[in-house]
Amino acid sequence: MGIQNYKTTNIPQMNLHEYQGKELLKSYGVAIQEGMVADTVDEAVEAYKKLNEETGTEVAVVKAQIHAGGRGKGGGVKLVKNEAELRETADSILGMMLKTPQTPGGLEGSGKLVRKILVAEDAYRPDFDACKEYYISILMDRERKSNVIIHSTEGGMDIETVAEETPHLVHKEYIDPELGLLPFQSRKVAFNLGLSGKAFKEMVKFITKLYNAFTGSDASLFEINPCLQTADDRIVAVDCKVTLDDNALFRHKDLAEMRDVHEEDPTEVEAKSYGLNYVKLDGNVGCMVNGAGLAMATMDIIKLSGGEPANFLDVGGTADAARVEQAFRIILKDPNVKAILINIFGGIVRCDRVAQGVVDAYKNMGNIEVPIIVRLQGTNADIAKTIIDESGLAVHSAILLQDAADLVKEVVG
Ligand code: GDP
Ligand code: MN
Repeated sequence: MGIQNYKTTNIPQMNLHEYQGKELLKSYGVAIQEGMVADTVDEAVEAYKKLNEETGTEVAVVKAQIHAGGRGKGGGVKLVKNEAELRETADSILGMMLKTPQTPGGLEGSGKLVRKILVAEDAYRPDFDACKEYYISILMDRERKSNVIIHSTEGGMDIETVAEETPHLVHKEYIDPELGLLPFQSRKVAFNLGLSGKAFKEMVKFITKLYNAFTGSDASLFEINPCLQTADDRIVAVDCKVTLDDNALFRHKDLAEMRDVHEEDPTEVEAKSYGLNYVKLDGNVGCMVNGAGLAMATMDIIKLSGGEPANFLDVGGTADAARVEQAFRIILKDPNVKAILINIFGGIVRCDRVAQGVVDAYKNMGNIEVPIIVRLQGTNADIAKTIIDESGLAVHSAILLQDAADLVKEVVG
């Protein structure tokens, strides 16, 4: 099956750090491995001391906060036994380039910079061997038009591997979003996990609250791995991956503020700040387009002409000089770009204004070295073409899409 099928979706997403995800879970009453976040060693020591008072033990865990799983495998999750060890561990993890199977390039790649650590209680105390790790995730199943709770007794492991090697150990409980989670369903999850007695009841509570948190926060993925059964049969989230639906963030101001721009593509972040809808791709032809539909058609045209789109960029309705210039700057940050195709349909916006915008932006920037192909169609398209042609700039103009495509073919060879 592969949980991957569910995870890949086209809706814009925002990921949370583990410590933020746990904050969210806690606010819905879900039991978590308690901890405090720190971005310096001193802060970590302070957090550690507070934690010691609360837990009555000097054992704690230091966990690197990056947007990637498998941190344990890369040395980003460490148990410490005293303050000296805490200091040493915090110092080595903070600022490290942590490589995990999920960071760019994997364990052989360059890793991700750790800016924050979570100093957490040892959730497995007092008896590590008496604890059991489970896997629980909640996500949307588009085909079934329902949510699904995926759960397994094989916690702490990669669920994709479990699904591949022992598919019978991966259970799914589908939840009709109209009805919500019904009581028998959370009992079924606890039953599938082989629980009884107090642990069973605790798991039912855990699942119920977790599902509330999922729907309440408009999340698209919750992944609790491991979800721990402690020696005294409590159920706690030791790890959590939370992905939120970007489109619903407007109604969760507190969650929206959790965005960590360090974890996102810097050019995409900058584009967003200008109100441009930009997604970087791997090709060589930059595109500047208005409207997502036209953007996709343009990307097809580029491919047919033998090029590969370098990005998706929707400048939206107001393609004035300032906006076109910002879009140019964003596109040109990508060194792979060998040509730029501007394809704008002037429905509400007039083509001559866009053309003037292109010419002004081009002159303002002064150092554009890649050929630019402009195709403006719609209101005042002919005036627009004249403006471009008479500007004296190395900008090729076209009115028909086919002509634009031929020009792309010519310049990318
Ligand atoms: P991940 O590697 O990024 O998935 O990070 P996790 O938070 O899942 O931690 C990785 C592993 O570290 C877990 O599967 C546990 O085996 C271990 N671990 C996490 N927290 C604790 C803890 O409080 N005590 C102990 N003894 N081990 C822990
Ligand atoms: Mn984990």
